[in-house]
Amino acid sequence: MEEIAFLRDERGEIYPTIENFYKFCGMGKLMAVRCSRCGRLILPPRPMCPECYSTDLGWVQLSGRGRLETYSEVYVPPKNFASKSPYVIGIVRLVEGVALPGQIVVDRGEKAEVGMELSVDFESAPAEGWPQWPRYFFRPVDRK
Ligand SMILES: [Zn+2]
Repeated sequence: MEEIAFLRDERGEIYPTIENFYKFCGMGKLMAVRCSRCGRLILPPRPMCPECYSTDLGWVQLSGRGRLETYSEVYVPPKNFASKSPYVIGIVRLVEGVALPGQIVVDRGEKAEVGMELSVDFESAPAEGWPQWPRYFFRPVDRK
């Protein structure tokens, strides 16, 4: 696996930024940060806890498992996603309690359903076009 250069602070800790979140995705890891003061899980990661304003945060790996909370089927996508149309975008409630928006990849002819069990998967950054970041997405658990 290629070396991934994280943005780090002066103590060598990996900064809780969305950019580093996507670098972890490139390693096949779905990561959040947890506030060391109040324990809140923050996803997507931010440099400050929205609950107690602490900046003492540490990375934790998530299971990547959850349930579909709500979704929308996209038939008229932005230009960069035209080749994927139609596709499903949803909010996934992870078993850790936090919610994350993402693409839900279902087989052709298959329908997304609220409550369906999902698992995260990853795709490397596209060679061209936008965005130039590794991607995460969700698939139904039993069809992986
Ligand atoms: Zn906090």
